Formats: sequence, C-alpha cells, structure tokens
Amino acid sequence: SVPAAVTSAVSAGTRRGLLVKGGAALEAVGGVKTVAFDKTGTLTAGHPAVTQVRGLELPESEVLRLAAAVESGSSHPLARAVTDAARAAGLTVPAATDARAVPGRGVTATVEGRPVYVSAPTHAASLVPLTGLDDDITDLEATGHTVVILHDDTRALGLLALRDELRGDAASAVAALRALGIGTVMLTGDNARTAHAVAAPLDIDVRAGLLPEDKLRIIAGLPGPVAMVGDGINDAPALARADVGIAMGGGTNVALETADAALLRSRVQGVVELVGLSRATMGNIR
Ligand code: ADP
Ligand code: MG
Repeated sequence: SVPAAVTSAVSAGTRRGLLVKGGAALEAVGGVKTVAFDKTGTLTAGHPAVTQVRGLELPESEVLRLAAAVESGSSHPLARAVTDAARAAGLTVPAATDARAVPGRGVTATVEGRPVYVSAPTHAASLVPLTGLDDDITDLEATGHTVVILHDDTRALGLLALRDELRGDAASAVAALRALGIGTVMLTGDNARTAHAVAAPLDIDVRAGLLPEDKLRIIAGLPGPVAMVGDGINDAPALARADVGIAMGGGTNVALETADAALLRSRVQGVVELVGLSRATMGNIR
C-alpha cells in the first residue's frame, strides 16, 4: 500500500503545478543522477521568431512567401514562426501540395509546380551548393540563431534566421540541479554552433545535431537513473526511454500521456521542485 506521506506529497505537488503519476514516479525522481533536457520548448520558450531573411538574387519577400508555403502544413515551432512572419509582412502565401517532413532535417512541398525545400544547412548542403551563404550561416549560428535554407532541387534560393529565447528560469534551475549533485545535458536536433550559443548562459553539457533515434541512444548511455524533460510530440519516445519522463506542461498531449510527471506551469524550476518534493517525502518515510 502507498504510504499516506506519498499520497499527500503527490497532492501537495499537484497544488504547485507538479503533476506526479503515482508513488513510484515520486520516489524515482529524487534519485536521478542526470537530467536531460530537450532544447526547443523546454529550455527555450519554444516560440522562435524570424529575425532575418536573405535572398540569393531573389527579393526577401519572395523567400518568405515560398518558405511560408512549404511550412504551411508543418506543426514544427519553426514552421509557425515562418508562417507568422509571412502573415505579418502581408504576403499572400500560395498553396502547397505533397508536403512532407524530413524529421530533424526540414520540410518539402510542391509550390507553384515545383519541389521547394526548407532545410537545415547541413541537410541543404547535401542537396545543393550553399555558395554565397556560408559566412552568413556561420555568423548567425554563432550568435544563437537557427538558420534554415530555402532551396529547390538544383540551387539555394535564400535563408531565414530564427531565434528562440531561453526561459527566464533555465539558468537558475540548471545551477540548482548541479548543487543537488545532478548532472545536466541539453539534447537537440539543432546544429552544434547554434546549440552551444543558446546554451552559453547555462552550465550544461550540449549534445547537438541529434536525430530522434540518437536522443534515445544518448539517454541510454548517460549516468543513470536519467530523467528526460521534453515538451514535443517528437520527445515522447525519449520520455518513455528515460527512467523518469517529465513533460513540460504547455506541451503536446502525447508528451503528457507518456511522461511519469508533468510541469503544468512550464517552469524549468519545476524539475528542481520535483526532486526536492521527492527527497523530502522519501526522507520522511525512511
Ligand atoms: P529539436 O531537437 O530542437 O526539437 P528538431 O529535431 O525538431 O529539433 O529539428 C532539428 C532541425 O531540423 C531544426 O533545427 C531545423 O534545422 C530542421 N527542421 C526540422 N523541421 C523543420 C521545419 N518544419 N522547418 C524548417 N526546418 C526544420
Ligand atoms: Mg521541443
């Protein structure tokens, strides 16, 4: 039977926006050795905005118009940023057909009769030359921007730079975990240069350029027990693989369903509070 102290700790957590799915989950979270965080929507607010658009022999508005068409069917945070920017610029976005995501790499669709792509630079570079964009890509990534390339089957058409901000409590939460003797790592599909720039204010390990299956492999290799904190539909397998899966509250239902615990108020500090609640409760029982 579940001790009364656990039941009352679970209710106390719920009142503070820390949803724990049962006594086993509450016990486990206090014993984790490593917390792995998803980047977008977990350590960052998850609302990237387009900050720059560049066309290669093409007006910027044309780059934004085509990119928005390709992104119109995608639910990725970057996609919403691009379609929002096109709407804010008053552009009429053409219809796209055959839209298809390439997970961790980009998205493609047929627009005005031809295939058009919005791709991560490394993926784009495997398909078309990026001549004339290289320096911009490096500079933008080094300052924490995520760059995506607009291209067709034969050439690059331009680039878009997007920026997402760290959550206000990310640095203090990572520091507090460290003070509790818990290691932290950021896992992201974004490229290494952008990831390190975004994580610079945090004292956290960074693993970048990851495909969803890479994240699972890395979680399995971290000093355990491991907690994984994520928000997205694409984080569900990682949440399931970790010893403790923690969903950021504003996230998708899939993440919430898969997780052992959820932070309903989308504060990174909630992870620290969960650990504290667990340790206090288990300390009282023993
Ligand atoms: P994260 O791990 O940060 O959630 P993802 O695995 O979703 O990142 O995406 C990794 C990279 O793939 C993005 O940084 C971007 O370069 C590219 N990408 C994925 N989906 C899209 C999209 N809809 N539009 C543009 N780029 C995308
Ligand atoms: Mg995410």
